[in-house]
Amino acid sequence: MADIFDEDLDSIIEELMKDIPDEEDCAEYETADPDAAIVMPTPEEAAETAALESTLEMLEDEYDIEIGSDDDTAQSPSDPTDDGGEKAEKKKTRLIVTVSTLLTLLVVLTAVAVFVIKPVFRLEGHDNTVCDMSKGYNEPGYFANYLGISLTDKIEVIGKVDETKPGNYELRYVLRFLGREYERVRKVTVKDTTPPVITLVGSRTVDTRDRVWTDPGFTAIDNADGDITGKVEVVSDYEEGTAGVFKVTYSVSDESGNTSEEERTVIVYDNTPPVVDLIRASVMYFNIGDYYSDPGAIAKDNFDLNVPVVTEGAPDMWNPGVYTVTYSAADKAGNAASAERQIIVAAKPVVEGRGIVGGGVVSDSTVYLTFDDGPSSVTPKVLDVLKKYDVKATFFILNYDAHPEYVKRAIDEGHTIAIHGYSHEYSEIYASPKAGLENIMKLHDKLVDDFGYATNLTRFPGGSSNTISKNYCEGVMSKLCPLAESAGYSYFDWNVSSEDATESSLAADVIASNVINGLAKGRGNVVLMHDAAGKDTTADALEAIIKYGLENGYTFAGLSSDTKPVRHNINN
Ligand code: ZN
Repeated sequence: MADIFDEDLDSIIEELMKDIPDEEDCAEYETADPDAAIVMPTPEEAAETAALESTLEMLEDEYDIEIGSDDDTAQSPSDPTDDGGEKAEKKKTRLIVTVSTLLTLLVVLTAVAVFVIKPVFRLEGHDNTVCDMSKGYNEPGYFANYLGISLTDKIEVIGKVDETKPGNYELRYVLRFLGREYERVRKVTVKDTTPPVITLVGSRTVDTRDRVWTDPGFTAIDNADGDITGKVEVVSDYEEGTAGVFKVTYSVSDESGNTSEEERTVIVYDNTPPVVDLIRASVMYFNIGDYYSDPGAIAKDNFDLNVPVVTEGAPDMWNPGVYTVTYSAADKAGNAASAERQIIVAAKPVVEGRGIVGGGVVSDSTVYLTFDDGPSSVTPKVLDVLKKYDVKATFFILNYDAHPEYVKRAIDEGHTIAIHGYSHEYSEIYASPKAGLENIMKLHDKLVDDFGYATNLTRFPGGSSNTISKNYCEGVMSKLCPLAESAGYSYFDWNVSSEDATESSLAADVIASNVINGLAKGRGNVVLMHDAAGKDTTADALEAIIKYGLENGYTFAGLSSDTKPVRHNINN
């Protein structure tokens, strides 16, 4: 304050006088108007004047000024007309004016303090502040001070920053002091720079063998927007029913443009080949020259909806034989499968002529004597014994080019001619199911050609239960047996064995007893014997067997197509 008074006080006062508002202080000033004060001073007034004088002197000393300079001029001899009382009045008046002026000065200074000297009031930090949601808003602070006195506590902060919502906020800092109000404003921008969080349900890498993969789901949560799962964009190259490795990408943006992305890998395995189903039977039988139309096949796949079937092979309907038509299919994953159909083109019908009626009387205790591997020189001996007892039997013959007359005789004498096979060579006939069937068909057609005799009865060399075929083709019997049946043949094994093949020349009585011991009542007894060359003891044993049978209530008959087959279990 002393600084102010160091200046030219008069000029300051003069200046301030202009600015003084018309307030009560002014009224007080007017009471000191010299025009209204020309009266005789009372004793009290005299004392007051004395007090004012001393005050004035004090002020003169204090501030080293000449307040009474005008007074000196007034006391100059140029105005000698004034008497002593008038002089005192004038001095008093001047004193009053001076004191009033000083008081006014104080009022003015106060006014200056209040209206011109404003409090120091400022905000710490920036007036425009940007803050991140994740970090929150920290008030940088504010400050107010007036002439060294802190007014910070008096500052009222109006407004609020919602740190959970991005946006623009305004904080008003208001200081009310000495009847005046001061305001500072801070603009706060809350920004969201945190991306949403995408959470995948299930694992990031999914292995599946299903045709259709279903997304186990996902969620997207944002710190500002909350649950924005619905805004997630899913992009995938996944193709239903297709095996492979697929990417599924999930992306989302929050309102502030922060983006997140997640990825899932879907590995679809398809190791299952299609199933090729034939339309109609897997073996189809035709006679030479028949019309053939491929019935086709359908492929069904666990993944692919449409799997094309490629057909390879076709029968030559004018060239007898067994033809294989292959239907193959592959799914998109490359799993392949195929199915085969055997097309049998026979030179002659399977059932025709007299063969089928070769059977004799069938009872519930029938003996079906069967002779394999003929004809040979033994065959006439067998036929002789059969003729003697008028017993019918069955001959499972091989290629008979050496002795066609024995076949003819057997047919003529009412026996059943059946097919053992054109060849008995295991390595040839069991090389494949097809070779096995062709071995039967070849002899079938020869019999038709030579004697007009067609038979559908057959016995596989070694029987259907043989295991020797395994040496040539794994599983051949399992395929050949149904294949032969599909082609119209009825195959027989045996349930009584003479054991005449166990050694080159088994004694006749042993053969006879083997058979007799094997017979049983109440069933068809299919007896295995051989009329191959060298099997003379079999022919020798025959009479005893027939006699026993006839004497013990058995009926002898040849096999026919109506005979219930006796079959072994297939072992290959
Ligand atoms: Zn044989």
